[in-house]
Amino acid sequence: MSIGPLDDETVEKYQEAGEVLRTVMDESAEMVEPGVTHLEVAEYAEGRIRELADGCAFPANISVNEEASHASPGRDDDTVFGEDMVCLDLGVHIDGYIADAAVTIDLSGNPEIPEAAEEALDAALDMVEAGADTAHIGAEIEDVIRGYGYTPVLNLSGHGVERWDAHTDPTIPNRGAERGTELEVGDVIAIEPFATDGSGKVTEGSKNEIYSLVNDRSVRDRMSRKLLDEVREDYKLLPFAARWFDGGRSEMAIRRLEQQGVFRGYPVLKEEDGALVGQAEHTVIVTEDGYENITK
Ligand code: MN
Ligand code: MN
Repeated sequence: MSIGPLDDETVEKYQEAGEVLRTVMDESAEMVEPGVTHLEVAEYAEGRIRELADGCAFPANISVNEEASHASPGRDDDTVFGEDMVCLDLGVHIDGYIADAAVTIDLSGNPEIPEAAEEALDAALDMVEAGADTAHIGAEIEDVIRGYGYTPVLNLSGHGVERWDAHTDPTIPNRGAERGTELEVGDVIAIEPFATDGSGKVTEGSKNEIYSLVNDRSVRDRMSRKLLDEVREDYKLLPFAARWFDGGRSEMAIRRLEQQGVFRGYPVLKEEDGALVGQAEHTVIVTEDGYENITK
């Protein structure tokens, strides 16, 4: 069934990516408990995605407590879950068509924070249809979260997805914005409210495990060239993790390519210390009569 500009085959690929994501999300979320390492869960999720789909749309994001986004364990990371608030954000692609979703597993005893994010997501989804204004959707998200006495993370947003591109227009704000855009039939969008008991503004931390190719050009040294070839071939413009390549020499090449502006790094985005962040996310296709949730 074609949807606006998306032909049957494209819609099926999105649906298949969504189905894999649901399966892997359920299995991975089950694993999150005290004593288990972040790395075990990330590697399990990524392994299952590679087994069932064409690849990860981005590395498994496992953000705990004040971390909101872009946290992914390093290759020797032995951090274990404690009494944490754990946001698990996974991405799957089939032939470059992307599904992106997140759930929060609360081990910290603050279930209302993820509940606020979930309810904001439900309220936002209720508004999704062709012609809906993204600014109104953002205002609704903000209202619901503030209704719980929390703050939305104001400087993180939902987004469109396109083939091989995990972050495109339109932006779906998590706040009442001055200007929005109108959704159109065939738009594929990820809506992702974040609720926090902190300031509502995330800043960049120092940890950085996730990169993507932003400026493809010829590089001189052999190790960098080999690594760049591999990224171009396997991930194109999709984000990848430093630990997906073996050995310290790859890490050095990645850092060098980042310094040269060929790769971009995604530092962890976090709230102030001591704050907690909960996230919920689904990817949906805007249809003639509303939307289809591909990750639910
Ligand atoms: Mn996500
Ligand atoms: Mn997203």
